[in-house]
Amino acid sequence: MKIGGLQKTTLIDYPGEIACIVFLIGCNFRCPFCYSKELVEEDPNGLFLDEEDFFSFLKKRKGQLDACVICGGEPTLNKEIFDFCKRIKSLDYKVKLDTNGSNPEVLKKLIKENLIDYVAMDVKAPFSKYDKATGAKVDVFKIKESINIIKDSGVDYEFRTTIVPQIHTLNDLKKIALEISPAKRYFIQNFRNDKDLIDPDFKSVIPFNEFEIQKVINEIKQYFEICYLR
Ligand code: SF4
Repeated sequence: MKIGGLQKTTLIDYPGEIACIVFLIGCNFRCPFCYSKELVEEDPNGLFLDEEDFFSFLKKRKGQLDACVICGGEPTLNKEIFDFCKRIKSLDYKVKLDTNGSNPEVLKKLIKENLIDYVAMDVKAPFSKYDKATGAKVDVFKIKESINIIKDSGVDYEFRTTIVPQIHTLNDLKKIALEISPAKRYFIQNFRNDKDLIDPDFKSVIPFNEFEIQKVINEIKQYFEICYLR
């Protein structure tokens, strides 16, 4: 398992839980607005965190942390993901998986084997704009399948979208809402241009006005139990 980083504490990434975040290397998408460049474009000479050091950390933090968020890159690309989750759960931590939804087979198996307690899936765009939003050739049937697996799973979940001028219009949020609804949680995140991005041209893209995003959220929140700008 190639671990690219560890955030030792977060109060905001797993609703209601104190968690750490482990970042796994590798992704099959190239979203131009992605700011996890070092996790996506693997540097063979890059520094990895030793897996045993990560588990030593988890053992030491028992009683202080409730959960572990597994983030990427795209964690489901790692063949060892099942054993990795099993090992985390054997230490009595809850597991949250952050995923781009491109790998429904792995997602289904993780859920079936009770290896995850919460799933956060990025919905990158309306289905018709997926390739543009991800910089990849995406099989949207797999994305749809993942959405349905998550909604039918009984596992707690959220969908989320980062809204980016040049890729999305504000109206796209309405399209996405209709494509994924009804659903439990849908969070919108505004694009940020203050970090290193996969496509450096996006550094000059000005984010949407939050007031304008909020107006759209007011129209779509009826489709969800919880929906807000995060
Ligand atoms: S934002 Fe896109 S490219 Fe970056 S880690 Fe997520 S899915 Fe991969």
